[in-house]
Amino acid sequence: MTDKEIVEFLKNYTGPDVSLMEICGSHTAAIVKSGIRFFLSPHIRMVSGPGCPVCVTVTAYIDRLIALSEDPQNVICSFGDLLRVPGSRGTLEQAKAGGSNIRMLYSPLDMLELAEKDSLHNFIFAAVGFETTAPVYAALLENAIERGIRNIKILTSLKTMPEVVKCIGGRMDGYLLPGHVCTVTGYAVYEPLAAEMGIPMVAAGFDGRNIVQALYALLKLRGRGIVRNFYPSVVTREGNKKALMAMDNFFEAGDAAWRGLGIIENSGLFLRGEYERFDAGSRDLTEDRENTLCHCSKVITGEENSRDCPLFGKSCTPSDPKGACMVSREGACFNEYIK
Ligand code: SF4
Repeated sequence: MTDKEIVEFLKNYTGPDVSLMEICGSHTAAIVKSGIRFFLSPHIRMVSGPGCPVCVTVTAYIDRLIALSEDPQNVICSFGDLLRVPGSRGTLEQAKAGGSNIRMLYSPLDMLELAEKDSLHNFIFAAVGFETTAPVYAALLENAIERGIRNIKILTSLKTMPEVVKCIGGRMDGYLLPGHVCTVTGYAVYEPLAAEMGIPMVAAGFDGRNIVQALYALLKLRGRGIVRNFYPSVVTREGNKKALMAMDNFFEAGDAAWRGLGIIENSGLFLRGEYERFDAGSRDLTEDRENTLCHCSKVITGEENSRDCPLFGKSCTPSDPKGACMVSREGACFNEYIK
């Protein structure tokens, strides 16, 4: 089929109503940017899933970072998005305004130099992300060990994708697998899951053409537990062995709390016992006390659309977010707001 024919098919689809989830926040942003949502048939519902790291971070994690930042001995380092995510006591941005030593960094590796120059402080990186970023934290620790830097730690909220897909399971008719994550893990890890659930899954890249082809494939494969790779330029069946080995060396699986989804068995990555000295206390961060009016938990599971939230576009906007899904450029509410 030509690209034009595929687009026409997606526009005029009149089969049974389907819900397709793009798990990854980068796909959410790409789908909005390329205008795909505007022409899809009303019988195709796109759901933005839990693959935006800050959107699934529980309030206990933010609260712990704020508590750590109150110790003058500590310097908290983080990616920019996380600074605006509300915990139950406010945001890291507010803590910084109140005098806490909080730095925004573009890469965890930048923390090495800061820690090396300032041995009087402990540097703690807010390690959020999925299988894509976990190897970077492994590289940070590897470098710290090699260079003898002792004053760094990480607070992990690292999560893994297959477990959350399993948790959402049959609520969707198909999954657009996260391209970046699959670059690291490979797509074979989804094969048993797809077969067990009888739901198709397609690994896709981030340009509009690749995404529409993947959506078309999901519709054609509906009801069949098959995985396809539409991103072969970077995704392989087995993934990146070097990155997987680095991850496996430092991290082990454990139960983790997801905003809106609760605790999912073995869906988190925590430092192994031999590297415990680098852990800033990541294991017991399960409480999630989001603003009671915020519907993020329903949005990321497809139960509701962002516009169903009473705060959407009123008191909650990208410049003044009340929930995590409005903070990140990969968040469902942010992308619904700007579309
Ligand atoms: Fe939460 Fe804001 Fe989205 Fe409502 S619009 S669900 S408050 S992030």
